[in-house]
Amino acid sequence: MKNYFKDGIKGFRHFVEDGETEEATRRLIDKIKENRFNAYITVCEDAVERAREIDKNKGDGRLLGMPIAVKDNLSTRGVETTCASKILRGYVPPYDATVVERLKENGAIIVGKTNMDEFAMGTTTETSFFGSTRNPWDEDRVPGGSSGGSAAAVASGECIASLGTDTGGSVRCPASFCGISGIKPTYGFVSRYGLIAYSNSLECVGTMGSSIEDASLLLDVISGKDSRDSTSIDPTLYRRSSEKFGKIGVLTQFFDGVEEDVLKHVWNAIHKLEDLGIEYEEIDLPNLRYALSSYYIIAMSEASSNLARYDGVRYGLRGKDLAWDTTFSRIRAEGFGKEVKRRILMGTFSLSAGYYGKYYLKALKVRNLIIKDFEGAFRKRKLDAIVSPTMPYKPFKLGEKIEDPISMYLSDIYTVPVNLTGLPSVSIPCGFSEGLPIGIQLIGRAFDEETIINIAKIYEENTDHQKKVSGLL
Ligand code: GLN
Repeated sequence: MKNYFKDGIKGFRHFVEDGETEEATRRLIDKIKENRFNAYITVCEDAVERAREIDKNKGDGRLLGMPIAVKDNLSTRGVETTCASKILRGYVPPYDATVVERLKENGAIIVGKTNMDEFAMGTTTETSFFGSTRNPWDEDRVPGGSSGGSAAAVASGECIASLGTDTGGSVRCPASFCGISGIKPTYGFVSRYGLIAYSNSLECVGTMGSSIEDASLLLDVISGKDSRDSTSIDPTLYRRSSEKFGKIGVLTQFFDGVEEDVLKHVWNAIHKLEDLGIEYEEIDLPNLRYALSSYYIIAMSEASSNLARYDGVRYGLRGKDLAWDTTFSRIRAEGFGKEVKRRILMGTFSLSAGYYGKYYLKALKVRNLIIKDFEGAFRKRKLDAIVSPTMPYKPFKLGEKIEDPISMYLSDIYTVPVNLTGLPSVSIPCGFSEGLPIGIQLIGRAFDEETIINIAKIYEENTDHQKKVSGLL
């Protein structure tokens, strides 16, 4: 059997064409079970059988036979879905999320549910009840989060491409830390039906692959209007980009706090784009310095409300012989981890009478100002994209920041503004330092994913950073 594992979707297609889907899937499942990076929470045992059917009956679909991993906060019919939380252990959804349904309709094989920060709250995948995922480039380091399992699985060849979710960077951060491509679409581009909510007004389902092409093919398959999510948008409203690009804006704000080698590679990438005919100009968005505070207040407030439904009665963890007046608090005390509790407490505080106007409402006003900043920059300066480092640092050591939430939150400085505005954004690898990957982020205009994806493709075709990930396989 040839090693087609290195070439992403294009490579794996050879197995399907040669009638070797079953054998290739079996190998992949065996690899997942070795559990080197703790990338998965659940393995889908029926994957090999599905592959056998494909070898027998062929069939069609744009992802026919592709082994795809799905983050564990996306509902999968008949397969345990835990959000990496003890409180949801044992919960088996009776239905598929729309995105999962669309993958299956297109012939994909779901190979497993990936590890993540508990309820997607984190930047490193260390808050998972099931233990941290490790970074395939250096096992002593974090893979990024919260979709760390989905990214590590792609980078280590434990799937061909994957789904993650991005509320404040959770697709882009792990994509950057694992040296792969990740896309966070415009809010409304992809249905959220069946995504277990953390912060509804911020979160999107996104895609990851070893190349931007793979990530964008997956996005194409899962996007579009869904009658079960009223915030999803009709594809006729998407913008169509031209093939020619004029100018990008470089968000030079906060560069003082960015690690030197990260900055060096990001600038190299910008100059590479310049050589390819895309000019740049430096930009500064005045309200961006309030983005982190505004994001964390909104995200925690929505989380505190969303997580009220976990009471041990309807889902997952249950108590035995508990008194009627203490059941909820006992189950919640036992079922939620430390970071989730911290956020429920802070969110409840900022929504409470007397503080609502001071915190939550103010955060919403700031959010509006940030939206206007971005709109103004795109319009007045006629930009095709705005670029920044995806993360200000290289992947941290496991345990390095987990006890210091503020410094952890600070590392989301470039990713959270994008969720506040709802704009699309991709992260692609732009270099390596000390053997660790570095990512650059391209932010686009609303519903113009095509432009940033095309710029990313041009960059990818003219550099070889993307190919490095196959060295791990
Ligand atoms: N790191 C951010 C947070 O902790 C983003 C998480 C996410 O996008 N789900 O909220």
